[in-house]
Amino acid sequence: MRIVLFGAPGVGKGSQARLLMKNEGLVHISTGVILREAIREGSPTGRIARKYIDKGRLVPGPVVRKLAETAIEDAGCDRFVLDGYPRTIEQAEWLTEFLSERNAPLHAVVSLSVSDDVIVDRLSKRRVNLETGENYHLDFKPPPNSIGAAIVFQREDDRPEAIMSRLAVYRKETRPVEEYYRSRRMLLDIDGIGAFETVHHRIVEAVRIFARQN
Ligand code: AMP
Repeated sequence: MRIVLFGAPGVGKGSQARLLMKNEGLVHISTGVILREAIREGSPTGRIARKYIDKGRLVPGPVVRKLAETAIEDAGCDRFVLDGYPRTIEQAEWLTEFLSERNAPLHAVVSLSVSDDVIVDRLSKRRVNLETGENYHLDFKPPPNSIGAAIVFQREDDRPEAIMSRLAVYRKETRPVEEYYRSRRMLLDIDGIGAFETVHHRIVEAVRIFARQN
């Protein structure tokens, strides 16, 4: 199974990708996670990426393309879920070309949606476990007391100004990608509101039905 999880920042792509990894055995490929790791390591890629990420802007396409393609190759070009890539029409075209050269086209693109106020609430109240990458929400899934405060952090790009910028970038550059896949009859619209497990089952069911029909 080769799928893309698509949607605005805060829609739940990362949490759903982790569930697909756990329950369906897919490799979770998140360009955001790879970039944040590069920043932590202080690599040249990380130094370039930081300037964009902290402001809520997109990292230049060629940088992200290389990271995504390497990760897909590492996954053996199969059984992966892409989270956060592609984010522009150009990236979508690169991905189509890359996968078709490897005879491994996408099976489906899952588009998650929730309302804007839910997005802002989720992002501003999101906290992340520095060690495991697990996400928390201050109201609905607070970090357990057993976890030291030092390893729970708020992403720089989850601060209010960066959230506004990310949503603006999403509307202008990323949302058109949805149409790219819809016109190719690959898009599955999924309601992202509800418990993690509920949304997960919606995704798995929709992908199964879609795969049977195609
Ligand atoms: P995410 O964890 O997916 O929300 O990504 C965090 C940040 O990493 C984004 O706001 C961008 O700055 C950068 N990023 C992640 N994926 C991409 C991509 N496909 N293209 C450009 N920038 C990206």
